[in-house]
Amino acid sequence: AKARDVVIIGGGAAGIATASSLLKRRPGLGIVIVEPRNHHYYQPGWTLVGGGVFKREETERSMASVIPKGVEWVRTACAGFAPERSEVILEDGTRLHYKTLVVAPGLKLDWDAIDGLQETLGRNGVTSNYKFDLAPYTWELASTMRGGRALFTQPPMPIKCAGAPQKAMYLSCDEWKRRGVLSDMEVYFHNAGGVLFGVADYVPALMKYVDQYGINLKFNENLIAVDGASRKATFRVADGDETREEVRDFDMLHVCPPQTGHDFMKKSPLTNEAGWVKVDDQTLQHKDYGNVFGLGDGCSTPNAKTAAAVRKQAPVVAHNVLEVLDGRAPNAVYDGYGSCPLTVERGKVVLAEFLYGGKVAPSFPAWMIDGKKPTRAAWLLKEKLLPAIYFDGMLKGHEWLAGPKVLPHRPTAHDAQAACVDPS
Ligand code: FAD
Repeated sequence: AKARDVVIIGGGAAGIATASSLLKRRPGLGIVIVEPRNHHYYQPGWTLVGGGVFKREETERSMASVIPKGVEWVRTACAGFAPERSEVILEDGTRLHYKTLVVAPGLKLDWDAIDGLQETLGRNGVTSNYKFDLAPYTWELASTMRGGRALFTQPPMPIKCAGAPQKAMYLSCDEWKRRGVLSDMEVYFHNAGGVLFGVADYVPALMKYVDQYGINLKFNENLIAVDGASRKATFRVADGDETREEVRDFDMLHVCPPQTGHDFMKKSPLTNEAGWVKVDDQTLQHKDYGNVFGLGDGCSTPNAKTAAAVRKQAPVVAHNVLEVLDGRAPNAVYDGYGSCPLTVERGKVVLAEFLYGGKVAPSFPAWMIDGKKPTRAAWLLKEKLLPAIYFDGMLKGHEWLAGPKVLPHRPTAHDAQAACVDPS
């Protein structure tokens, strides 16, 4: 069969943004998106659904409406890869032949890794903003509880939007404070890691809210089991070299599930042991296959897994895919940008923005938004502007200030492979 110019796996933030960026650069390019779902989700909005600010419907669009015109949509799941033949294998066994491949299937939320969790999700006070249909339950609990114990959990890294578990907690606490019941709530943050937030510069601002809300911080405590009916959560607690189990009763439990690469990715030749697509941190080109790229939550780069990162990665991949199609080496580079708007109260956000290595990288001058402080301006950005920037900017291929940094060409080991892309 004829090779498609570009096959993209996944119609999420990364897949759609990359397709649009490619078409902006080269209208008429032959692009196929492989995506089984009928709906596309603006997941950053789920925090605000759980905080009673957005309706969940505002975070959902039909897949057909976000796939750019001129792109062929293959409405099925990808099941595997044969990169040495430049082919992807679809669920029904058929194969698609490509000149270049962009792998962007996101990640797997591993609800089953926690004993008893699936059975009780959405009932018995057990909720999660990590699921479209559950985020409204977070708000139902937060807006009706008048006292009791609320636990918020965070699994081992990496997870998408590392701040999301505590965002859910702060917005719930804010609601309890507004209704005058916070003093009757006992709130715990159980974090499998050892720090409140990975970039130290933002921790002081967050700690003020932890103190103000009276939150009990529990580090190195990993949720391993839930008994919904008797409302008990079991944690594995790391204490130096020792580990022990601890059971805590709850009235509300907000769970952030453990996250890994998808099973079909783990079995493929494209991923490392954890199931992440093995790409160069800068060019996002696959480390073994020159005509394959990866971006978004599913790839191996050590940035914060966020839509904000995707906004910067998609133009890099689009530029580099075209370089490879034209027989050159990729020369656009990604600097590791990621962002996390921490909703510390309704109306205020601590806007964390940083590059690889946790280097703080604000997009705004401090007089507009000082990211290290809670500001109303950053809340307005999160509530009013970012959804539009996502749907009308990033998903449509408008790059504004996010255009890629392009280096002069230098020869790389992939040059030979890049130049050998199947011309059929
Ligand atoms: P996704 O958008 O998840 O898309 C992956 C796509 O691949 C899906 O459509 C899926 O159906 C498809 N797919 C899966 N398997 C296959 C297969 N076998 N074949 C074909 N297609 C497949 N980011 C921010 O920037 N700011 C925030 O404030 C923020 N808050 C968040 C809060 C929450 C609660 C959550 C859950 C996420 C948040 N994020 C935030 C993270 C952001 O949503 C993700 O980083 C972003 O969606 C990643 O894009 P992606 O395309 O890699 O993955």
